[in-house]
Amino acid sequence: MNVVLDAVRAAISSPVGYIDQPNDMSPYLNDWRGMFSGDALCVARPGSTEEVARLVRIASEYNVALVPQGGNTGLAGGATPTGTRPQILLSLNRMSQIRKIDRAGLTITAEAGCILHAVKQAAKEVGRQVPISFASEGSASIGGMISTNAGGVNALRYGTARHLVLGLEVVLSDGTVLNGLRNLRKDVAGYDLKQLFIGSEGTLGIVTAAVLRMAPLSHQRCAGFVSINSAGDALRLLEHLHGTLGDCIGAFELMSDASIQRVIRLIGGRLPTSSAPWYVLVEAADCAPELETRLQEALIAPLEAGYIEDAAVSMSLNELQEFWTLRENMGEAEKHAGRSVKHDVAVGVCDVPRFLEEAATAIGNLRMDLDVNAFGHVGDGNIHFNVLGSRSKADDVVVNRAVHDVVARFDGSIAAEHGIGQYRVEELLLSKSRVENELMATLKRALDPALTLNPGKVVGIV
Ligand SMILES: Cc1cc2nc3c(=O)[nH]c(=O)nc-3n(C[C@H](O)[C@H](O)[C@H](O)COP(=O)(O)OP(=O)(O)OC[C@H]3O[C@@H](n4cnc5c(N)ncnc54)[C@H](O)[C@@H]3O)c2cc1C
Repeated sequence: MNVVLDAVRAAISSPVGYIDQPNDMSPYLNDWRGMFSGDALCVARPGSTEEVARLVRIASEYNVALVPQGGNTGLAGGATPTGTRPQILLSLNRMSQIRKIDRAGLTITAEAGCILHAVKQAAKEVGRQVPISFASEGSASIGGMISTNAGGVNALRYGTARHLVLGLEVVLSDGTVLNGLRNLRKDVAGYDLKQLFIGSEGTLGIVTAAVLRMAPLSHQRCAGFVSINSAGDALRLLEHLHGTLGDCIGAFELMSDASIQRVIRLIGGRLPTSSAPWYVLVEAADCAPELETRLQEALIAPLEAGYIEDAAVSMSLNELQEFWTLRENMGEAEKHAGRSVKHDVAVGVCDVPRFLEEAATAIGNLRMDLDVNAFGHVGDGNIHFNVLGSRSKADDVVVNRAVHDVVARFDGSIAAEHGIGQYRVEELLLSKSRVENELMATLKRALDPALTLNPGKVVGIV
């Protein structure tokens, strides 16, 4: 393999672009939760699209696989090497230039290794926003965000990463560069090829840069924290707020009392309202003034009608952040609670209450002394239905089956925003129809016939 390593080293102009010492490679070969770890011949950190293309050609020539990686914050093991084939970890984190900002056209062109938070800051500095938010945005990259089609808390208003991408530059599996860095808002000339790469988790091509849609900056932001008795009441509130505040609703998150209490035990803080079985965190954002008053007024009718129990509205950015801290620490609190089986599922928004009931019943029926930690983007029908207390991998499989069987009854999805990676490959096969599975395998073989890109991920072809 020395010949491969020599070729990789020669392909990258900077000495910091090549790592082969085990200690230095370790952060790239393990995921942050300690769930996945892998092996690689080396870590290659190209500094340009041309260097990525060169590396792909080398991998193809020597029959070595490439595992693309951005911020390594993914939750499905997609950026960690798996299997026995020799692999090179391809980190895009040196490609971090913002190439262009168009204020009037509302676009920003950024390289794949840019950290999402930095791109959002750049947009903010010119009075615009990149309207996607999730708890890992301080480490997640633009390439990773696009390759997982990340969702986050603003998908309700602005859609997922897919809806923000106007153009893509992609290195294909033979090293050809597909230059689709267009800033067009309308384009129906032929197949929309960029869509193939968005959400394909590095199995069909390597994203090197993207043109992203920006939005005008909402100068007003405020949040409501609401106590409610049931998920059904949460949907009634959502319907009401769609009618009263319209487009201003940016996020609508549901959290169970048990999951909030777990966060408070971990980080301290206080519940902003009286306790109830469930809570909603709703954020509104707008350019027009007096948003707090408008949100307060919008919550009066639900309080009077009795389908919300209590509500607090943030009166400062600090208070808004306090509300969000409770939501954003759900994952961390769960990590401290021990072993958990995670489910990132989606059902139709109107089906969320019945899904939560039926999935909780299915878990109870297992009689394995388990706890449910349910929270998530209820406005998108995306629930993180995590189960605590499983004692072994064999138990995990049983729990997984029970939850995903309920998802199937609702014709839902087993991966709403965290991707398939290596974690859910078997579940994907079970959850999709034969036609869908065959079509995905056909696409993989057509775009990556030598199986160079991220083997064993998504469709599981190695
Ligand atoms: C605390 C926390 C909260 C999170 N919350 C959310 C959330 O609310 N919503 C959500 O959607 N996700 C969430 N995530 C998951 C994760 O942060 C996102 O999926 C993120 O977009 C991944 O970006 P990354 O750069 O870290 O990608 P990585 O983890 O490095 O990679 C993810 C996948 O993309 C591929 N990939 C990476 N870069 C490229 C590239 N340039 N070209 C081709 N393929 C590439 C990798 O091979 C891998 O398959 C969360 C994660 C954490 C840790």
